[in-house]
Amino acid sequence: MSKKKVVLIFVLGILVGALAGFKLGIEYNLKKINNAVLVQEESKATIAKSKVNEQMTKLSSLINNDDNRLFELVNKDNILESSYIPSDLVYPKVNCVISGKDNRNLMRRTAASALEEMFNAAKKDNVQLYLNSAFRAYLTQKAVYQAGEQNSTTTGDYIARPGESEHQTGLAVDICSKSANYKLDENFGNTKEGKWLLANAYKYGFILRYPKDKESITGYNYEAWHYRYVGTELAKYLNDNKLTLDEVYNQIKLTKK
Ligand SMILES: [Zn+2]
Repeated sequence: MSKKKVVLIFVLGILVGALAGFKLGIEYNLKKINNAVLVQEESKATIAKSKVNEQMTKLSSLINNDDNRLFELVNKDNILESSYIPSDLVYPKVNCVISGKDNRNLMRRTAASALEEMFNAAKKDNVQLYLNSAFRAYLTQKAVYQAGEQNSTTTGDYIARPGESEHQTGLAVDICSKSANYKLDENFGNTKEGKWLLANAYKYGFILRYPKDKESITGYNYEAWHYRYVGTELAKYLNDNKLTLDEVYNQIKLTKK
């Protein structure tokens, strides 16, 4: 073998060795990067999980310590006592369909000031909202239900039975607009005002209580006009997670009833 050939084989050998080493190095680094990404993803998931847990603990405590009855679940299975009339009912300073000091314009103090804030924010966006009806006493609801019963076969899907109505809490409000002829019907949801509410109500502590796709859960047909005050914290959680009040009550551990 010539000297040249020996040198060539030697050089080639070094090159092959270097390449193999280089490849191993890359593989090692790739593995390291992959592991680091994996650890990062795992810790992200852990943080997200603990955040959810923290949020659920907070909401559980909110609902379980609700001495002021602001987060109360009222539905066909959770009925209010006939004697219950909130002690802090006031007239919110907003545009009302029924003018003057009518009982139907009353709301609990906290909900009333949140409603004022919401209506004022809407006004700034050129959206004019009207309070159609808020508080309804047990006996009034009884009369409304009985009147509805005589006119329809599906009353229970739209009109609550006495004690089952959120309007008795003083925290629920039916909202309407001139564009929908001040009517409470599905069309309100298609108006500028209905859409503004759907997108913004949670910022003021209100939620659309009977959404379109949750009828089997709430037990009520879609009511584009019916909003319920639950405070900003709970409203944001419900809005972010597309949940109804009934569902969050199923998620948390209730320590009292
Ligand atoms: Zn209503």
